Amino acid sequence: MAYTRKASASQIILYNKCPFAYYREYKLKQKPPATPALIKGSLVHAILEKFYDINIRSGRITKYNYNTELQLYIEELMNTILKEPRTRYGKTLPTFEEELHSVCADDFEYIKELVDCKKMLRNFVILYCMQLEQFIDKFGNIQQSFYMLRPKFRELELSLEDFVGYADQVFKDGPAIVIDDHKSSTIFGDGFSDDHELQLMLYCYAYYMINDVLPTKARINYLRYGVRCQYRFAEDIIEKSKKIISDFLINTESEDPQKYPLNVKDKFCTCKLSEHPNGKGFKSGFKCGHQKFCDEAIENGTAVILNETEEFNDN
Ligand code: SF4
Repeated sequence: MAYTRKASASQIILYNKCPFAYYREYKLKQKPPATPALIKGSLVHAILEKFYDINIRSGRITKYNYNTELQLYIEELMNTILKEPRTRYGKTLPTFEEELHSVCADDFEYIKELVDCKKMLRNFVILYCMQLEQFIDKFGNIQQSFYMLRPKFRELELSLEDFVGYADQVFKDGPAIVIDDHKSSTIFGDGFSDDHELQLMLYCYAYYMINDVLPTKARINYLRYGVRCQYRFAEDIIEKSKKIISDFLINTESEDPQKYPLNVKDKFCTCKLSEHPNGKGFKSGFKCGHQKFCDEAIENGTAVILNETEEFNDN
């Protein structure tokens, strides 16, 4: 069977941000080196995926202590997952603990990163307990409330012929369907992002194409801020999403690096030619993972720069 390329939300978002970064990551398969932020994001996702496996019938968590017990439970879960052996496609991976250690300068930095993870998990539990409280008020029973609040699917694959996505959680409440995604990013401090809206739109579109039902709403949980951002989409997203996916696949057909210009106006561009006011002198110390290669291409005159008239990508 012929191999068909599939788009994903992260590929589309990266291509829109900077075609050259997309080229390096998806054509050359040169991902930027792992950073504490990336590893923490994967760790937090792995923990939240298992959060609902708790044995609510054990009697440990009651309607009188759930606020504190769930905080303790998620911390225990984190300690277990940090040390758990991991594999991908049959290949052994370092544990989260080993991986995080390898990118931290010393034990102090490692502990600082773990405290950061704990803060995000605490925010998740606070949000969760607020919902649980409403269900307990309604049903009076923690077990029933817990099951009512459990996602129908976790890490649900939304696979079409030309697109694939993974929804962190899908809830079903009667006819209502809600898609949830968790973000651990520090970048989107205001809790809104066009990129995240685009990602949710594509997930809702894919869900619709598979199930013939458009999700009622889709949400991003900004774990760092304890904020949830909610979007509702109408049926016009079907044609819109089809076009976005098809345009992306056409635009990224070529293997020629010249077709993937550097977007030196991107908000997070830090190369020599960065035109964005936050770029070259990025105050937080952030560096684009591809900067070295962009600087080399600029120096040896092979860099193609994206159209000067493009607007800044300020998402
Ligand atoms: S440094 Fe700038 S031009 Fe280079 S990949 Fe990153 S965003 Fe694109």
